[in-house]
Amino acid sequence: MDINNLVGDSLELQATHASIVNVADIKFNEEFRAMCEKNVCGSYNKNWMCPPAVGPISELKERVLEFTQGLLLQTVHEIKSSFDWKGMMSAAVSHTVIFRNILERIEENYDLDKILPLNAGPCTFCAKCAFLEDEPCRFPDKALFSVEACGIDVMALEKSCGMPYYNGKNTVSYVGLILFKLND
Ligand code: SF4
Repeated sequence: MDINNLVGDSLELQATHASIVNVADIKFNEEFRAMCEKNVCGSYNKNWMCPPAVGPISELKERVLEFTQGLLLQTVHEIKSSFDWKGMMSAAVSHTVIFRNILERIEENYDLDKILPLNAGPCTFCAKCAFLEDEPCRFPDKALFSVEACGIDVMALEKSCGMPYYNGKNTVSYVGLILFKLND
């Protein structure tokens, strides 16, 4: 199995940029987690995969550090202007569809020991997260952790592999990270 095929597969499945990254290059920054806690995206205390339900940053960091490598994915979408909120929301939905298609390809075609998928923002697999109904997560196998809740500095990680952070005027970019462990 050649893990470099992961990049080709991702591009084929509509990621704009993809790269294999080393977990050692991940920088954690409590500021990103603090933004979740200030409810910047509106998902605080509303989703199993977001704070506070997802657990403290220290525990998430430990989980991330169990891995050695990951596939960093970026999708870039055109929007009308930097105020085009509707366009940004629709781009986030498209990004997650692409992210899940790539994840499915990895789960089906690669013999990996373990995977931890982290996506931008809250888990949106269910129309209404079970957290809001005081119920356990309905699909733990499908739930996606929030990259922000883990305090991962996405910009620094993109820089570490030469991926652009900004993709031009009237575009919005979203990032996901699929951590994996190879079978011995
Ligand atoms: S799978 Fe459903 S219940 Fe579980 S975290 Fe995602 S949205 Fe919430």
